[in-house]
Amino acid sequence: MKKYTFLVLALLAYSQINAQYSKKTQLKYIEELSSDNMKGRGFGTEESRLSAELIAKTFKKNNLKPCVGDSFLIEFEHNGKKGQNVCGIKQGKSKDIYAFGAHYDHIGYDDKGDDKIFNGADDNASGTSTVMALSDYFKDKKTEKTLMYMAFDAEEIGLVGSKKLVENEAFSSYLSDMKVMLNLEMLGTLSAFGEGKVYMTGSDRSDLMALMNSNTKTTFKVESDPYLKQQLFFRSDNVNFVNKGVVSHSLSTVNMENQHHYHQKNDELDVIKIDNLSIIAQGIGYSIEEMMKQNQQPKYSK
Ligand SMILES: [Zn+2]
Repeated sequence: MKKYTFLVLALLAYSQINAQYSKKTQLKYIEELSSDNMKGRGFGTEESRLSAELIAKTFKKNNLKPCVGDSFLIEFEHNGKKGQNVCGIKQGKSKDIYAFGAHYDHIGYDDKGDDKIFNGADDNASGTSTVMALSDYFKDKKTEKTLMYMAFDAEEIGLVGSKKLVENEAFSSYLSDMKVMLNLEMLGTLSAFGEGKVYMTGSDRSDLMALMNSNTKTTFKVESDPYLKQQLFFRSDNVNFVNKGVVSHSLSTVNMENQHHYHQKNDELDVIKIDNLSIIAQGIGYSIEEMMKQNQQPKYSK
């Protein structure tokens, strides 16, 4: 009996160590991406390249495989500048793909005032860190479906990076298997709906919100888009996947009627509500995990 107790305890300790999602780690991802060293992650800069490499390092640590070729970085050119998307894949039992994406670029810096850097902690180190944290979450799980993790460059100059990605010949062969692409955009603050709540842009266009909400066990919940007039559905990287027929929405917490940091220099680490973000990141992981187990595939409404 004693022997078994020890075994159980040892296993428990082992599973604790290997409980891959960690709030502390997610906060560290945000801290690194939004640090002054990254100079606001402007498109085409050396610092944007460094950010991409940082994301790729996490993908490698989590045993993902590059989506295209032998590098997690998928390069492109735009207006004479070089950029790079980051993409990693984890094979599941089925080749159906459930994908997560977030843009990691931001608007850089200027030379006005004492604070020159647009750190973009919420926009969108918060979403990017969630993509990275989800690769932690699923690291040791055998999944029914194939998981894809993407970080897009050049969103701020007009959704350019994600468009280049879906048009990349080698990448585009994945699109017909992609059952859903969850785009994560500004999740760092408390939404108007309260703790653990996100809203889904264009939520009335598919049954994804209902499916996610039928698979939640915490305060995490997906709410309808409260800012329909602002057409947010068309204003982030999900739209380039929508145009290819993939069910794709953005999840966000940003209160469009009451925020003071969007594209401002005060979008820094201290705006991030990490406890709330941690509920959200794990809530997304759990609901997608359950959806995969039950072979639930979202569809656009007719
Ligand atoms: Zn953004």
